[in-house]
Amino acid sequence: MDCPYCQSHKVVKNGHRQGKQSYLCRDCGRQFRDSPCPAGYSSDVKELCVKMSLNGMGFRAIERVSGISHNTVLNWVRLAQAQICDDNYEIPETAQIDELQTLESSKKTKFGSGQL
Ligand SMILES: [Zn+2]
Repeated sequence: MDCPYCQSHKVVKNGHRQGKQSYLCRDCGRQFRDSPCPAGYSSDVKELCVKMSLNGMGFRAIERVSGISHNTVLNWVRLAQAQICDDNYEIPETAQIDELQTLESSKKTKFGSGQL
């Protein structure tokens, strides 16, 4: 989650507003909510993708199975985790960070090399 105003990564969770996770940007001090769910997919498909992720499938594998972009799936899983985290349940941060770093580095490999 980056700040939509200044693209800062220094964003912290800031409670809930109207049932949605609210965030606060440490750099510009603005508050914002989760971006709206990507349109075009039914809640059934969304739920299935989240379940696949929770059962240990990687986002790339889910993308191959469902045909849905791993970025979209990642977004759904994050939203689902934010809801789960409402209580005392915590998802290990490292799991998420590892996955994000994998995505980042694969992006760089794909678009950064420029060699064909
Ligand atoms: Zn900001």
